[in-house]
Amino acid sequence: MDEFSFINSIKQSLYKQSSLVKGVGDDAAVFRQQTQDIVTAVDTFVENIHFTRQTMPPFYIGYRALVANISDIAAMGASPAFYLVSIIIPKTWTENECMEIFSGMKKVGKEYRMDLIGGDTVSGSELSISITVIGYVNRGQARYRSVAKDQDVVFVTGTLGDSRAGLHMLLNQGDYINESYFKERHQMPTPRIDFVNGLQQIPRMALNDISDGIANEATEIAEASEVDIHLVEEAIPLAESFDQFSDHLQEKWKYFGGEDFEILGTVPLKNWSHVQSVADRVGIQVTEIGKVVLPRKESGNVYLQKGNQVRPLTKNGYTHLT
Ligand code: ADP
Ligand code: MG
Repeated sequence: MDEFSFINSIKQSLYKQSSLVKGVGDDAAVFRQQTQDIVTAVDTFVENIHFTRQTMPPFYIGYRALVANISDIAAMGASPAFYLVSIIIPKTWTENECMEIFSGMKKVGKEYRMDLIGGDTVSGSELSISITVIGYVNRGQARYRSVAKDQDVVFVTGTLGDSRAGLHMLLNQGDYINESYFKERHQMPTPRIDFVNGLQQIPRMALNDISDGIANEATEIAEASEVDIHLVEEAIPLAESFDQFSDHLQEKWKYFGGEDFEILGTVPLKNWSHVQSVADRVGIQVTEIGKVVLPRKESGNVYLQKGNQVRPLTKNGYTHLT
């Protein structure tokens, strides 16, 4: 593949962001910012570790990789503006397939008004994509995990475990209910940008996006905020036909499945109705799933209430009875 013509073919002809001064084509990109804080993150996706060609056609590889990145920007309360892509391409991948990866990213970029402003293209033995995202947030208003307080409402957007269920369907042919819904949740997840941006007037709110599973994400907020989090099993939002899977799989996927890219947050009770009205306005589901509590012993623990029983929900393991 000719690197020069490849870069030319993925280059945007028009840029959307007015703060961009120089995009693709020089030694580096330039943008200008006067008033807002700049938020940036990077994520790397490697073939056969983070995805396989069996479950992810090239278009979706790009689509999902960029969504995973801007989901982190959403969880900081920010809006994405730019992305840079470093790609390692093995000889077994055709130029067309690589362009499909970029088409997937461009679809997401278009939807969220982002510009591809640079990157690097090299050959290597395994396909690897590393994406850097840059976003903006009003000065001093980034959302941190460390601000949760006793008695805050714990909420989550959407339904949990869908992406993992979709992956299961992609890996195991069978007769499933709502198959295309679950597969799409795996291949084309939605970052909750509009929702988070609608919450700007709330003074204090801890946010985290669900990339590894809610057990992990809730623990991260509890640890950073030095509190405990109490979740209620019956409240966890699930897709209508999620119960087509065994209890064991449902339990595993909803707490540890990950990659749903939903938002987990905590807000003071007095702001909860505002969160609900913003979710209504942007057309998504938001559910109260528990509350923040003072630590029992050392802080940073998540507890799960099932009926009258309360058990610790550990970061990446299964729940154990106390
Ligand atoms: P240099 O040798 O100066 O690093 P390159 O030939 O690597 O320049 O890149 C030329 C231009 O193309 C730069 O603007 C770079 O950011 C851009 N570019 C290279 N690879 C990619 C890519 N995978 N995605 C987006 N832009 C890229
Ligand atoms: Mg270079």
